[in-house]
Amino acid sequence: MDCIFCKIRDGEIPKEFTYEDKDVMVFPDINPIRPTHLLIVSKKHIRDFLDVDEDSLAKMTKILKKMIKETGLEKKGYRIGINGGGAQIISHLHIHLMGPWSKHEI
Ligand code: 5GP
Ligand code: ZN
Repeated sequence: MDCIFCKIRDGEIPKEFTYEDKDVMVFPDINPIRPTHLLIVSKKHIRDFLDVDEDSLAKMTKILKKMIKETGLEKKGYRIGINGGGAQIISHLHIHLMGPWSKHEI
């Protein structure tokens, strides 16, 4: 399967992880739109949010919360996002964590 995030998971594309465990990996977006722009990525290849199982989502959410705290975005404002239904560039489930973000922004 020709999937960039699977290749990163398998070490075929070298990547420095911000966080890693057996289920989840986190690394900076290659094209950040904010000073902090992390991707929280399921190690399991899940092609769309609609396909995600509760267990995988719970594991990603737990690490997402940890990253929000560790980056300091807890107090600076953040936005989280998932593209799906064909809006995603990479069809391997990941959550964008972006910030700082203010309430005055769209
Ligand atoms: P999406 O699939 O959520 O629409 O967007 C995929 C995101 O992954 C984009 O924000 C893009 O900048 C990022 N991206 C694409 N290729 C790579 C890569 O090889 N490494 C990293 N770290 N990010 C990537
Ligand atoms: Zn994949």
